[in-house]
Amino acid sequence: MWSHGEVDAAQRAARNGHRSTIVWLTGLSASGKSTIARALERELFERGMQVFVLEGDNLRHGLNRNLGFSPEDRSENIRRAAEVAKLLADAGLVVIAAFISPYRADRAAAREIARAGGHPFIEVFVNAPLEVCETRDPKHLYRKARAGQIKEFTGVSAPYEPPDAPELELRTDRQTPEECVAQAVKLLLGIVCSGGL
Ligand code: ADP
Repeated sequence: MWSHGEVDAAQRAARNGHRSTIVWLTGLSASGKSTIARALERELFERGMQVFVLEGDNLRHGLNRNLGFSPEDRSENIRRAAEVAKLLADAGLVVIAAFISPYRADRAAAREIARAGGHPFIEVFVNAPLEVCETRDPKHLYRKARAGQIKEFTGVSAPYEPPDAPELELRTDRQTPEECVAQAVKLLLGIVCSGGL
């Protein structure tokens, strides 16, 4: 039985000046998820909003440190991430979740967790072609994956299932990070600041 507190979502939203939401960034490694997440967080923070980034790499240092990259572990990684995102949204935050989250079913499950908590779920496909991501390769992960030093690497030796109907698609190979963030901000403000808040 879920225990309800004395402070409800509407009261939190009224104090914050916006409702909570979960912005879910999905895409290949080096597609630009972290870059956009951080810049978007900064932009919303400067506007006085309650915002926090949840990062795949960071969660794997703590809560998810016992998980690897098998399909089962990736699913569990995303399930836990979605539950944490939901709790942060329960606390009234705009949560920006940056996870490769390669499987459609896992992202659908994350959406369902958000929906059950009464939070909007904005799926953002951070999209750049594999060749572009591989050329960027900021952490040399593609190089290691091609050399066989990293197994089950998304795009190289593990699948990525692109979203069928994301709320937003950002082509990071055709637009600057600033343009991408501006698009995300516009969509987001329409969702979290509507209703006179
Ligand atoms: P991910 O979090 O998806 O693994 P990162 O954000 O760590 O990706 O790396 C993306 C790289 O692509 C960065 O070096 C960033 O500067 C570069 N980049 C170029 N154009 C864009 C863009 N429009 N949006 C985001 N990143 C971009």
